[in-house]
Amino acid sequence: MTTAKTGNFIHNIIEEHLRSKKYDRVHTRFPPEPNGYLHIGHAKSICLNFGTALLYGGLCNLRFDDTNPSKEEVEYVDSIKEDVRWLGFDWGDRLFYASDYFERLYEYAVQLIKAGKAYVCDLSPDEIRLYRGTLTQPGKESPYRSRSVEENLDLFERMRAGEFADGSKVLRAKIDMASPNLNLRDPVIYRIMRATHHRTGDKWCIYPMYDYAHPLSDAIEGITHSICTCEFEDHRPLYDWVLEAVNIKNPPQQIEFARLNLSHTVMSKRKLRHLVEKGYVSGWDDPRMPTISGLRRRGYTPESIRDFCERIGVAKANSVVDIAYLEHCIREDLNLRAPRVMAVLRPLKVIIDNYPGDRVEMLDAQNNPENPDMGTRRVPFSRVIYIERDDFMEDPPKKFFRLSPGKEVRLKHAYIIKCERVVKDEQTGAIIELHCTYDPETRSGSSADSRKVKGTLHWVSAEHAIKAEVRLYDHLFLKDNPEEDEDFTSNLNPNSLEVLNECYVEPEFAGAKPGTRFQFLRQGYFCVDRDSSESGLVFNRIVSLKDSWAKIAGKNAGS
Ligand code: ATP
Ligand code: MG
Repeated sequence: MTTAKTGNFIHNIIEEHLRSKKYDRVHTRFPPEPNGYLHIGHAKSICLNFGTALLYGGLCNLRFDDTNPSKEEVEYVDSIKEDVRWLGFDWGDRLFYASDYFERLYEYAVQLIKAGKAYVCDLSPDEIRLYRGTLTQPGKESPYRSRSVEENLDLFERMRAGEFADGSKVLRAKIDMASPNLNLRDPVIYRIMRATHHRTGDKWCIYPMYDYAHPLSDAIEGITHSICTCEFEDHRPLYDWVLEAVNIKNPPQQIEFARLNLSHTVMSKRKLRHLVEKGYVSGWDDPRMPTISGLRRRGYTPESIRDFCERIGVAKANSVVDIAYLEHCIREDLNLRAPRVMAVLRPLKVIIDNYPGDRVEMLDAQNNPENPDMGTRRVPFSRVIYIERDDFMEDPPKKFFRLSPGKEVRLKHAYIIKCERVVKDEQTGAIIELHCTYDPETRSGSSADSRKVKGTLHWVSAEHAIKAEVRLYDHLFLKDNPEEDEDFTSNLNPNSLEVLNECYVEPEFAGAKPGTRFQFLRQGYFCVDRDSSESGLVFNRIVSLKDSWAKIAGKNAGS
């Protein structure tokens, strides 16, 4: 895989570093916390970290930031590895865990204590918060701040040995309670927590805090550029302080960029977990979820997600990207790759009265007019077919060029038919079937075919088509920004999933494996779902064909 030079501001900084010899190599990392599945925002970070390393011939590590055992699980670790790999990135032999460094992090803490730069504090969490002060008021020093080095060493060792109750003591960095930056007001760097860790088991009952563990993990791995999102900008002075306090030579440089926000969805793992746990969706890989696994199941390609991440760019300023842009990227990708197929989602039976009942013709159909290399296939045509219910109107408005009584349409790859008669249910008045005639002189591609009509419909042969279930998706949330309300779930779209049980697709695709993608003519792009079995195919609609991004982009360009 190659990455084009994008000239984004992070790359400019890196190039300056290489020029000035601040670093002679580029080493990045993607540091997920294994407390949920990855989402499209993480994809942006993955593409940036791995892509930057590729661009400069450097390395990128995958590191699990597993310092909080209460929320972390092996299931998440496995899913994260699968997702990064699926996106097309390779961490080689550099799969790491912050928990691998617990012993070293402990030693660094001892070093801090010995240097008079950390102390054990007995204030309760509430007191610590009170003492911290506010943005306008300086904090107050803890009465335990002046403990001697010896006492601190002794207490910290006994914290590790399990002598004290959870929450009764913490280790704090001794920095500056009057700092205008709250993160520097003697932040907690170790806490006591009796929780079984997914890797270290019950070996530890004290755990390092993120702001302490992260810079040191970066330094231990020889990271040069620690790329993270903007909410950590205020933490950078602490990041730098920690590395300096333990005398790290040539420390890594933290660089922040704006996180990706997408319209009509939520992106925090906590909120996504809430949707899963409360059953609003079927799981982390529900095709409506903005998770990588959801997008994958829906039918998104890794190429389209990488393309999207590239195209939205990297900036410092926060913004919301319209989800239509993501949909635009998958359409562009599949337009060239996905074979066209005919599938009828809401069938209406059509009987062609003048077509012999025992006849079956195999008609030639092009697989992808945008990509002739994809060849042709043969589609069976017979006397009874299905068309789309809303391709027929008994009482059509003027500009309706589809089928109506007495009118003609072309059947794609086949003949022109004319609607002669409508059969209805006597009780309900519902339309049961149509009787049509066909014009044998109009077979598509034949020399006799010269007539033109305005409408062309897709169809399938009733006898040959295979029945399938089709799941149509709409945005998971109704509002652009579902988080603007206290209870974001109140903005869930009640119609985000529509299941159609009686759909018919061309027989050619009977054996299609989960993950196979098609364009259903006039309907959109679809992907075979893993719920498919021998007894029936299940399709997810990835996106419809209507590209609303073009409209939005046009609107923005004009304003
Ligand atoms: P969440 O808020 O969804 O739980 P997080 O930041 O806590 O996300 P981490 O597992 O800590 O999740 O994230 C791993 C990396 O991915 C971090 O470097 C983080 O900055 C980055 N990241 C997370 N969300 C986004 C996003 N929306 N856009 C870009 N990068 C992101
Ligand atoms: Mg996080």
